[in-house]
Amino acid sequence: MDNDTIYAPATPSGGAIAVVRISGPDAHKVLNAVFRGKEQKQHARLYRGYIEDESRLVDDVMATCFYAPRSYTGENMAEIYGHGGRVTLSRVLAALSKNGARLAAPGEFTQRAFLAGKMDLSAAGAVMELIGANSVAAADAALRQLSGGLFDRITAIQKKLTDALAIIEAGIEYPEEDIEADIQRDAMPLIESARLGAQRLADTFASGRMLGSGFGVAIVGRPNVGKSSLFNMLLDKDRAIVTAVPGTTRDVVDDVIIKDGFPVRIIDTAGIRGDADEVERIGIQRARNAAKDADLKFFVIDRAAGITQEDTQIYSALEGSRIAVLNKSDLEAKVTPEEVRETFGCEAVEVSAATGFGRDTLLDAIKLPEFGESDDVVVTNERHWQLLGTAAQSLEAAALAFDTADLDCVTIDIKEAWDRLGEITGVTAAEEIINNIFDTFCLGK
Ligand code: GDP
Repeated sequence: MDNDTIYAPATPSGGAIAVVRISGPDAHKVLNAVFRGKEQKQHARLYRGYIEDESRLVDDVMATCFYAPRSYTGENMAEIYGHGGRVTLSRVLAALSKNGARLAAPGEFTQRAFLAGKMDLSAAGAVMELIGANSVAAADAALRQLSGGLFDRITAIQKKLTDALAIIEAGIEYPEEDIEADIQRDAMPLIESARLGAQRLADTFASGRMLGSGFGVAIVGRPNVGKSSLFNMLLDKDRAIVTAVPGTTRDVVDDVIIKDGFPVRIIDTAGIRGDADEVERIGIQRARNAAKDADLKFFVIDRAAGITQEDTQIYSALEGSRIAVLNKSDLEAKVTPEEVRETFGCEAVEVSAATGFGRDTLLDAIKLPEFGESDDVVVTNERHWQLLGTAAQSLEAAALAFDTADLDCVTIDIKEAWDRLGEITGVTAAEEIINNIFDTFCLGK
């Protein structure tokens, strides 16, 4: 996850008020660099002030700060409520960009919220669906999804650990009462259940990895079959360089589209060919790796040229799932989908990157993995996955430490697990543990 500070207008242009959001470790610093008004702001309070750009007054605004982790993204955040005019808004944005923030990518705030464990993927997806909903039914469905998640799961696991700690701490306080066996009997099921919970969550990363970075589709094929054109056609924008000279896409270009609410990462690769020069070879190697790691390959053939020897060579080097894409279907055909299916033994779809023909059919042909119930929590962040794994290991160690009857070790292991989980939710450990312990044990003290 990028650790920089981002900003973006949160309201469409043309309204009376424009809301600009800032998120990231330096969000408050960036705001204060442009905001003339109260510097030390309390959490979620509104402050009146002015936006300045290099000492020039730009807008008369209200601003607010949210402190991590109590914000939408889980990071430090700030919001500016300014005047909605296009010129004014763009001057505010320009001032922010000069002071250490960069313009956010689409969905980046929600992505950060999601990566910070503030919401699970179904909730993150639901935010996007809610914004994009064109019908009341779609908005209702999105709203229903917008609850629960990783945060709740982790908090539930931590609750078990807190309870187990309370039982153990009580025992440490009263060693003379020889209640170690009782402690083990009462605390072990909690520890074991927490360990299982953490492990199960960690295990969802196998599929969650795909949800986070997107289901990877690599576009491969010999030069000039129209890979970059296909990429642009799928992405609906002009990003890759399209030229009539072979080998001009020298690096990997990728971008994400959403299919059935699921991110699909389309990867355009340089023409994989043998007679490349040095510069191209680096790009080709990168392309090879990207293609190899992709979950699916679009193997592009020039339908108007037919199947060439080079096509066959490239195809035989491909691994995993693939779909043959017969491009340039606006031109006269030299090969049919049936022939391609017979030759290569994979599905074949006719498209024209030039006219957009076949786009939907091709997207329909992408078979996304099943992810069970939509309310299932799936870990999609590598860091979370590692933290959950470490927590589960610590709890295993805690269970073992019981056998040596070393309650201090058990406590340390449990606290370690609690802290690792706390790193996912952003809740600080010590305070919470201490409060809860005093709440629950107190054997008449
Ligand atoms: P790449 O080397 O595989 O990435 O191929 P490009 O996307 O750069 O395309 C090579 C050439 O084929 C360009 O001149 C494109 O305009 C042309 N081209 C790509 N797709 C189509 C198509 O569907 N129909 C036609 N007629 N030309 C296409």
